[in-house]
Amino acid sequence: MLNIKSAEEVFPVMSAYGRFPITVVKGKGSYVWDDEGKKYLDYTAGIAVLALGHVPDAVETVLKKQLDTLWHCSNLFHIASQEKLAAMLTDLSCCDQVFFCNSGAEANEGAIKLARRYAHLIKHKENGHIVTFDHSFHGRTMATLTATAQEKIQNGFGPLVPGFRYLPYNSEEAIQAIAEDPDCIAVMLEMVQGEGGVLPADETWVKALSKVCGEKGILLIVDEVQTGIGRTGTLFAYEQYGIEPDVVTVAKALGSGIPIGAVLAKKEVSQVFTPGTHGSTFGGNPFATAAGVATLEAFEKQNVLEQCSKNAASLTNKLNELKEKHPDAIQSVRGKGLLIGVATFAPAIDIVNQMREKHQVLILTAGKNVLRILPPLITNENEINYFINALDQVLGD
Ligand code: PMP
Repeated sequence: MLNIKSAEEVFPVMSAYGRFPITVVKGKGSYVWDDEGKKYLDYTAGIAVLALGHVPDAVETVLKKQLDTLWHCSNLFHIASQEKLAAMLTDLSCCDQVFFCNSGAEANEGAIKLARRYAHLIKHKENGHIVTFDHSFHGRTMATLTATAQEKIQNGFGPLVPGFRYLPYNSEEAIQAIAEDPDCIAVMLEMVQGEGGVLPADETWVKALSKVCGEKGILLIVDEVQTGIGRTGTLFAYEQYGIEPDVVTVAKALGSGIPIGAVLAKKEVSQVFTPGTHGSTFGGNPFATAAGVATLEAFEKQNVLEQCSKNAASLTNKLNELKEKHPDAIQSVRGKGLLIGVATFAPAIDIVNQMREKHQVLILTAGKNVLRILPPLITNENEINYFINALDQVLGD
């Protein structure tokens, strides 16, 4: 049954989100302030968006200049910052060409279309399907919510898009099924399932999956929307698995908060997008791509990946110490880099609320019993210690 209670409230924004009761008006670094001037440590990072923290100086300077020169321009012209960002992304990844869009869902939608068109034109397969995995999350447009193998995301939105098959994550059975499936044209997966509960893919499993895809001519699409742009300690999480995907999608952290998404692909695949086959009015817009260029340049200049790895090691160690100290509260600590999940025995939402109310620390849940901790990659030891002390107290209570 649909719960329409919240929609009856006189509130002009649709109630599509369960919101926390604070109004955020300002952000800088790892902190945000509410409309009463109260300061919070933001370990949600806008859900893995703010790798460099809120309003990072390096990106702010570039965007202020961009405001004075060019905001938007049609994709029927060459756009300098777009070409520069594409060159940077292809230099830094295993891919050769980039299509820009505005969000993670739009990037995955683009990857799905690219895979289908590649199957049609190059493999002469018109009725193939794409394999995705249980508990995955790929977006909320019709094709991407169909790709998302979670009942709660799909519920009420049928009929779904045809051409998807779901298999269990991290399972040998899935590899066997893919190997024996002549209609599988592509496999799409996250290196760490973020929304699904912060579950990293197993390294030997990913290698075997990649091998089967290579042998069978099946495209391997890696959704790096949440893991990408440094979140796991390398620019792309797939680098840590020793594989080379055919298609990679990114969004979130690429623009430091300015909406942007991108589909990266190897030339063999990207060639099937010829002029007029796909498009997006705002995709690759000068402002968003200038933010992307400034973000990647800041990664290099500020050694952000090293900062991430160092912070991740410290935070993970300290969380494991808390697990020893509070064995009745913490079940496990998992994740990669600064994409961290803490499985709890008590409802995770209660801990999230107490962290906010008592200690002014913002974190998220991933499902009912997992705390999702996503600091800006540039957080520091002081902030980590503040966070750990707060969590220690909340768990002690
Ligand atoms: N893929 C993954 C792995 C994600 O985590 C998300 C968002 N949480 C998306 C896709 C969708 O991105 P967006 O909300 O920008 O459409």
